[in-house]
Amino acid sequence: MTLSPSAGDSPPYQRDRVVLVTGGTRGIGLGACRALARDGWALALCGIRPAEAVQTVLAELRAHGQAVEYIQADVSSADDRARLVAQVLTRFGGIDALVNNAGRGPRVRADLLDASEASFQELLRTNLQGPYFLTQAIAREFVERRKADVGHTRCAIVFITSVSADMASPNRGEYCVSKAGLAMAAKLFAARLAPHGIPVYEVRPGIIATDMTAGVKETYDARIAAGLVPEGRWGTPEDVGRAVAALLRGDVSYATGTVIHVDGGLTIPRL
Ligand code: NDP
Repeated sequence: MTLSPSAGDSPPYQRDRVVLVTGGTRGIGLGACRALARDGWALALCGIRPAEAVQTVLAELRAHGQAVEYIQADVSSADDRARLVAQVLTRFGGIDALVNNAGRGPRVRADLLDASEASFQELLRTNLQGPYFLTQAIAREFVERRKADVGHTRCAIVFITSVSADMASPNRGEYCVSKAGLAMAAKLFAARLAPHGIPVYEVRPGIIATDMTAGVKETYDARIAAGLVPEGRWGTPEDVGRAVAALLRGDVSYATGTVIHVDGGLTIPRL
């Protein structure tokens, strides 16, 4: 299946560099969108909240001068993913880059011996199956565009995984498994798309201050104060956003399947 706007659809925007950032209206995704907007990217964002809830954020991003569109879509739903890709292509006339950022933690941090199968399924569908098949759909589009326009079209994909792809937290095993799977997805798409000149990067954030971590703020404040993170502070969405923007600018060349740690040194093995 090749995804392209149906005949007769005319994009309302002049063709520009277009990036789709899933979950781009808050947290790390918003950090990425702010950095990408500064670099002149047109932004397609998605999330599960209704459009009315994100108008202030959209207005802020539009102030940079590029087109910004929000499409309400749940990445864990196959129907929503298909609609999302079709709508981005219709509204923008194409996609040049994808940032797989949307994700969630478990509703309850439960011990590995107690955690439910329902939570496992929810996290695997949202954090792994969703971005895996969204990437498949967009990668098909990228490959067709590269074939039609060799050497001119630059496309790239970024996966936001987590230090949890590698670090074991037995009180949220399903999250760790979903992120370990996503790290492998990044490698797989990197290997598959390299011959087409499409780089795929994995950005691995550490402990970042967002709504997702608000409920464990005191715990991590104490652990960071005790030396957990060598740089001695929480990460910010802007830290991660800057890394994403650098990758999509093409500042890191002859690299694909590359893992960029944005974790203040958290994952450095120490004695
Ligand atoms: P937030 O909870 O602040 O934001 C999550 C974003 O993802 C929201 O925009 C949300 O949409 C969107 N989202 C969640 N589920 C879905 C879904 N099913 N379909 C579409 N959009 C969805 O989280 P963070 O910014 O902290 O996390 C962003 C990513 O970074 C996640 O993948 C997370 O696992 C990862 N990460 C986070 C770390 C941290 O310390 N915060 C550390 C390492 C990785 P809406 O706004 O509509 O609810």
